[in-house]
Amino acid sequence: MIRFDYARATDVAAAVRAGAAERTRYLAGGTNLVDLMKENVERPLHVVDINRLALKGIEDRDDGGLRLGALATNADTAYDARVQSRYPLLASAILAGASPQLRNVATNGGNLNQRTRCYYFYDTATPCNKREPGSGCSAIGGVTRIHAILGASNHCIATHPSDLCVALAALEAEVQVTGPAGERTIPLSDYHRLPGDAPERDNTLAPGELVTAIDLPAEGFADHYTYLKLRDRLSYAFALVSVAVGLTLEDDGTIGDARVALGGVAHKPWRSTEAETLLQGAVPSEGIFRAAAETLLKGAVGQGGNDFKIELARRAIMRALKQAADGTPQSQTDKRVR
Ligand SMILES: Cc1cc2nc3c(=O)[nH]c(=O)nc-3n(C[C@H](O)[C@H](O)[C@H](O)COP(=O)(O)OP(=O)(O)OC[C@H]3O[C@@H](n4cnc5c(N)ncnc54)[C@H](O)[C@@H]3O)c2cc1C
Ligand code: SF4
Repeated sequence: MIRFDYARATDVAAAVRAGAAERTRYLAGGTNLVDLMKENVERPLHVVDINRLALKGIEDRDDGGLRLGALATNADTAYDARVQSRYPLLASAILAGASPQLRNVATNGGNLNQRTRCYYFYDTATPCNKREPGSGCSAIGGVTRIHAILGASNHCIATHPSDLCVALAALEAEVQVTGPAGERTIPLSDYHRLPGDAPERDNTLAPGELVTAIDLPAEGFADHYTYLKLRDRLSYAFALVSVAVGLTLEDDGTIGDARVALGGVAHKPWRSTEAETLLQGAVPSEGIFRAAAETLLKGAVGQGGNDFKIELARRAIMRALKQAADGTPQSQTDKRVR
């Protein structure tokens, strides 16, 4: 039995005070943290239950955007009428993930902070720099089907497993956090980090910082979007490769704004401003989609077992761009299960 303290916070200030203690974890839906504690991968000394905090709301913002509470569940977010009509890319990405039961419990803040699904990270009998810094990376030279092709390092080749975050990256969402040093806003693209020589750090949250909300800007790309997720099974499986695309089209048919984010390929949702700039002002065509895919995948390297991902990603990007431009998204439209 591994002992830990459990405390239930009733407001954000109290949660952050409690969260400042060493080896503390916030408990939201628990769908990732509790599994990791059972497997002895996460060994917090203190668990602060944040489920009573008033962070479950989804509210309109004055700038035309939407604020998603950190404790709004993935299901409440995906089935919110405003998310469905104004941000169908986000709804599709959420509904492509996990299962109805999990989405009913999993929260937006928890989804952002979920840990990698690298097999070795879960297997405490093997070395893993993310779990135990300095111990080595068992995935390099091991089984790498689900591992990174972009932005990896000699210390870690893990991927971030979230679907929701890939859509948030394409939408250029912002993460609101409160911590011992006060409140701050982190652009989603700066929230997760590449592994470098510190793979134990998944993101740029400072110790004790709590995610309170995620802000979506007014532009939701509701007319031209898609979330294309490719995986080993049709449900209950993480992405091998996923692509979130949001486009605006001008009256003359050329592309106005363009956003493309990839999941399943790196330690964070992967974007390339160079690829997006290439698309802006172009007439949608197979040629320009291929050029954008090549640009996004510049520097991609396989690890043996995941070499297939480079070609898979290239084709997925081209297909997703065509779906978005044609207005024929790969939407996920499951009915809500309570
Ligand atoms: C079988 C299975 C399949 C899955 N498939 C998918 C999938 O296909 N796609 C996908 O995207 N996800 C998938 N998931 C992951 C699931 O989406 C996450 O487990 C869930 O989103 C985590 O949310 P939670 O509220 O349960 O977080 P918790 O488990 O409570 O917490 C997870 C982590 O986030 C931290 N945390 C939680 N809230 C906050 C906050 N507000 N501020 C700071 N830190 C916080 C916790 O301390 C912990 O470290 C799957 C999970 C399972 C078990
Ligand atoms: S890829 Fe990262 S998470 Fe997986 S074993 Fe290597 S260090 Fe650990």
